[in-house]
Amino acid sequence: MDIKKLIRPAIRSLKAYEAKEVPCRVKLDANESPYGFPEGLRSLKSIKTNRYPDPEAKALKRLISRDFGVKLQNILQGNGSDELIYYLIMTFGGPVLYPVPTFSMYGIISQAVGEKRIEIPLDKEFDLNLEKILKEIKRQKPKLIFLSSPNNPTGNCFSSEKILKIIESTLSLSVVVVDEAYQPFSSRKGFLPLLKDYKNLVIMRTLSKIGLAGLRVGFLIADEEIINEANKVRLPFNLNSLSQSVATELLKNRKTMKSCINLIISEREKIFNELEKINGIQPYPSEANFILFRVKDADTAYKGLLKKGVLVRNMRGVVDGCLRVTVGTPEENRIFLKALKEVITVEKT
Ligand SMILES: *Cc1c(COP(=O)(O)O)cnc(C)c1O
Repeated sequence: MDIKKLIRPAIRSLKAYEAKEVPCRVKLDANESPYGFPEGLRSLKSIKTNRYPDPEAKALKRLISRDFGVKLQNILQGNGSDELIYYLIMTFGGPVLYPVPTFSMYGIISQAVGEKRIEIPLDKEFDLNLEKILKEIKRQKPKLIFLSSPNNPTGNCFSSEKILKIIESTLSLSVVVVDEAYQPFSSRKGFLPLLKDYKNLVIMRTLSKIGLAGLRVGFLIADEEIINEANKVRLPFNLNSLSQSVATELLKNRKTMKSCINLIISEREKIFNELEKINGIQPYPSEANFILFRVKDADTAYKGLLKKGVLVRNMRGVVDGCLRVTVGTPEENRIFLKALKEVITVEKT
């Protein structure tokens, strides 16, 4: 029997997301926080493993509502924002428009559910190519637009004016999702204040980059009508009790969270300054918890770093000639910088 014949064509041609586990001493490849949240585990004592989780995640949503100044009806919880991207594409369908390079899941999920993708290359400054985007909006009428700002893997925020122009030009045409996964590390204002003015705007957030990647917690903030429609495709118990409980604890401990974020920001600036001093390396300014940098021979540098136990992300095929390093603890960052300098020197001689 040929199983392949039974597979939907869109899936047959799809490649599964590969998250290879590479053994290393210092793991700086996945934009995780180096700081976990063990205090949150105390809350697990009250969990009843025999009962289903709260399908509405009420306690968690109440805290999000407080922190973001929005109503409960404007929040949808997801098993990570990956799942919410799925929900949005299931709810609205395609075409799905997004700039490239960007977060890979917009494309992978669109393809998995058989929706058309419209990929528009960023300009030389890694900003949006507004002219091209507006042209394609007119021509292909995308139902969904995904804008990751700060953008992964480039690290910059897109121009707010350009994002606004896209939102305004699609008012009754498309839903614009501003993916603010890295907003906690950014010095720019996010798009939350604009929600009340634009019904087609959706903000996506996650706790993955601020310490809870292992628990899978993300949420959408949007107009009630969008939330209600997306909620129809949500599986009832998508957010398990453990995740709800620890996430609630994390959001209650704003001080702990904020101090970790501030430390990561100051370490990011330190790494950036150090990278700039290294001959043959060009780092790109970042508003996120990682830095993209250009290096003469990226493949060799990647392998050299790994030999010294430091795992970063090789951006070959995405941003050729570049590596992406996640900001770690001060100690991890020192090890990374020292290893990189050694690798680069060897390359030269
Ligand atoms: C990491 C990342 C996410 C994924 O977040 P999860 O909540 O872990 O699914 C979403 N968007 C961008 C841009 C990311 O880099």
